[in-house]
Amino acid sequence: MKVVTFMQEYDVIIIGAGLGGLTAGAKLAKEGKTVLLVEQHHKVGGCATTFSRKIAEKKVVFEIGLHEMDGLAYEFDPKKRVFQDLGVHDNVSFARVPEFYRFTNGRVDVTVPDDISTAIRVISDAFPDEKEAIESFFYGIREIFGFLVEGNLEKLASVSQMSVGEYLDNLTTNEDLKFTLTGNLGYYHDDPYTLSIIFFAAAQNSYFSGGGHFIQGGSQTLSDYLAKVITDNGGTIVLRHLVTRIITEDGTAIGVIYVPKRHMDQQLTAKGKIILVNAALPNVINNLVPSLSDSTYQQTVNSFKIACSILSVYLAFSKPPSTLVPQHVYSTFILPENLSSLKDLYSQERSNDFSKKGFVFVDYSMIDSRLNEEDIYTGALCCVDYIDHWAALTSYEYSTKKESVAQTLIQRLNQIIPGIQDIISYSEVATPKTIVRYTQNPAGTAYGFAQTPDQIGPMRTSIRKPPIKNLYCASAWTGSGGFSGAIMAGYSGALKILKDNW
Ligand SMILES: Cc1cc2nc3c(=O)[nH]c(=O)nc-3n(C[C@H](O)[C@H](O)[C@H](O)COP(=O)(O)OP(=O)(O)OC[C@H]3O[C@@H](n4cnc5c(N)ncnc54)[C@H](O)[C@@H]3O)c2cc1C
Repeated sequence: MKVVTFMQEYDVIIIGAGLGGLTAGAKLAKEGKTVLLVEQHHKVGGCATTFSRKIAEKKVVFEIGLHEMDGLAYEFDPKKRVFQDLGVHDNVSFARVPEFYRFTNGRVDVTVPDDISTAIRVISDAFPDEKEAIESFFYGIREIFGFLVEGNLEKLASVSQMSVGEYLDNLTTNEDLKFTLTGNLGYYHDDPYTLSIIFFAAAQNSYFSGGGHFIQGGSQTLSDYLAKVITDNGGTIVLRHLVTRIITEDGTAIGVIYVPKRHMDQQLTAKGKIILVNAALPNVINNLVPSLSDSTYQQTVNSFKIACSILSVYLAFSKPPSTLVPQHVYSTFILPENLSSLKDLYSQERSNDFSKKGFVFVDYSMIDSRLNEEDIYTGALCCVDYIDHWAALTSYEYSTKKESVAQTLIQRLNQIIPGIQDIISYSEVATPKTIVRYTQNPAGTAYGFAQTPDQIGPMRTSIRKPPIKNLYCASAWTGSGGFSGAIMAGYSGALKILKDNW
C-alpha cells in the first residue's frame, strides 16, 4: 500500500467553493477551525458567480445565474440567522425585485405580485370565474408550508406523494390558470407532474412571504464576501485545483489529494480531521472515494434522478429594453401559444426544438443591480435544457447550434418586446456543457437531484451523510437547489460538524 505523506494539516478541508462550501467554510473559520477550501475553477462561487467581457472598449459584467433569491424580507426566513452570524448584511446589499414574475403565453398576460393577497386579486382579475380555485391554491400552499415549519408529518403525509400538476388538477380545469400559477416552474424543475407539491409550496411561499432579491453587484459579491470571511479568519482558499481523491483509512476520511488544473501530474496532499464535500455528490461517491464502490450508499445515490440543466443567453443592450414597450418587468416567463395543457409542458421542455420551449427573460436594468456603470444594460434569456442536446456535437456543430438557439430565442423575445433584437449589442450562450465545465456538476445541473416526491424528505435526508467517518456533505445535492438551499445546506452542515466533533 502506498503511504501518503501529508503536506499540511487542517481541522476541515472543503471540496468546492459553491455557496454551500463557502457558507460552511465561513462559519467553521469564524468558529476558530483551520479551514482549507479547494476549488477547481479560477474563482469562488460555483453557480453564484459573474463574468465580464470587453464590449466597445467597456468592461461589461454579466450575472451567471441569479434572477431572484427567495425569502429575504420574511421575518422567519432561516437565512436571517445565517446572514446575521456571518455579517452578510453589513457587507453585501440587496435590491428587491418589484414583482414576482410576469407570465405570458399569447392568451394570458399576468404580472404576479410577490404577496399572496395581491396575487390572489390580480390573478382573479385575469380569471374571474376561478377565484375560489385561486384562493384554494394560495391558501393551500401556505398551509403545506406551515405543516413543514411545524414538522407536522401527519398532515404532510396526505400530500407527500403529490405532484404540483396533480395538486392543480384537483383545483381547476382551466389550463391557462395552471400555467399562470406555475409560471416560474423552471426555477425548480422541468415537469409539473413530477415536481413535489411540498417542495414547490415551500419555495413559492418563501417568495410570496419575503419577496425576491438580487445581490447588488451580482452573486459574485456574496461569494467573494463569504470567501473573505474564511481568509480573514485564518482559512486558506486554493483556486484552480481539483480534488481527485478523498483519502480514507479504516472507514475514516483523513485527507485529500488535489492537483493543479494546469499540471495534473503534480499531486498535492492535505490532512483533515473533517472533509466536507460541496462538489457534486455523484462525482464524489463514484470517483473520489474508492471504498464506497459497490456500497449500498453508492447504489442509493446513483438511483436518484438528477435535475434538469439550464441554457442561458447573456445579452447586452445599447439602451434599456423598458424604453421599447409600456408594459415591462424584471422577469418575464414565456410559453408558446400552441401549448394548451399543463400535461404537455414537459414534452415540450424536453424537446431539442428551441422554438417550442418555455423561456424566461430577466432584465437587470429594471432594478438597481449595480452590475455595471449606469449606461450599461444587461439581461439574460434562460430555458430548461439537457446535456444530451449538446454533448455529442463536434465543436463546429456546437458553436453553430449555439448561434442558432440564440437567434431563435431572441426572435421569440422580439415578439413580446418588439424592437429588442435591434438594441442587442452582444450575446453569448452558455449550455449545460458550460455548466459542467465550470462546476463539474453531472448533466450540467445547477439544482442537484430532482425535487420529485420520492426524492425529498426522508429519502434526501438518508443520503446527507456518507457512511465514512468524518466525511460530510453540504450542497444543492444534499439540501435543495437554489441559493437558499445551498446556503442553508452549508450552514447546517457546519453546525453538524461542530456539534459532532468539537
Ligand atoms: C443559470 C442559472 C440560474 C440560476 N438562477 C437561480 C435563481 O434565480 N435563484 C436561485 O435561488 N438559484 C438559482 N440558480 C441555482 C443556484 O445557483 C444553485 O443551486 C446553487 O448556487 C448551487 O450551490 P452549491 O453550493 O450546491 O454548489 P455549486 O454552485 O454547484 O458549486 C460546486 C463547486 O464545487 C466545485 N468543484 C466540483 N468538483 C470539484 C473538485 N473535485 N475539486 C474542487 N472543486 C470542485 C465546482 O467548481 C463549484 O465551484 C441558478 C443556477 C444557474 C446555473
